[in-house]
Amino acid sequence: MRPALGQARFALLGVLGETERRAPGRMGVFRQAVCKDVWYRKMTYSEKLKDPRWQKKRLEILEAAQWECSSCGDKETTLHVHHKRYHKGLEPWDYGNHELECLCEDCHRRVSELDKSLTFDISLLGEGDKLALAGYVDALLRMEVWGTPEAKNETEADVKFKSCEYMSGIGDYFGISEDKLIEIAQKNEGWIPFAELYEARRKKYAK
Ligand SMILES: [Zn+2]
Repeated sequence: MRPALGQARFALLGVLGETERRAPGRMGVFRQAVCKDVWYRKMTYSEKLKDPRWQKKRLEILEAAQWECSSCGDKETTLHVHHKRYHKGLEPWDYGNHELECLCEDCHRRVSELDKSLTFDISLLGEGDKLALAGYVDALLRMEVWGTPEAKNETEADVKFKSCEYMSGIGDYFGISEDKLIEIAQKNEGWIPFAELYEARRKKYAK
């Protein structure tokens, strides 16, 4: 307990003690609440989900998703607003909208289980495989954010050449060989322009 709160509780117990002396038994419940720290403990997670700030955020996400599951399109079953990831110490309502998702009950359960098993399984991989996977995930996220070269932000969408393992993950997604990536990076001071990656993927699926 913080010192200021400790002092406040001490003062409050004094007041309650005085009241109890004058009217025995009447303040027992309050006294118990103060002693048990009920008034000072942190909100539990389920209490936080009843907070108006979360209710407002939740509504915003549900409305943006037009009240349907973003995974299967279900409109009939209970909808949940899923936190795609968690940041330590952040309140549920302090998340960016891109970190939240509207999911039906079934999809929410499935996605949550998948998140857990994926984290669990990835931890068994060696560093090289983790790097390749990190490159592949990086590629997926770039496509999600930028989608097309026209939508890209010049300073953020281009890829800086990292390790060969990392680049193999990028190459797998965009359909471009490691040798070709090295060749492009050499021509561009270590950078791979997003437009070239995008074009390679377009050709890969045009076949
Ligand atoms: Zn669903």
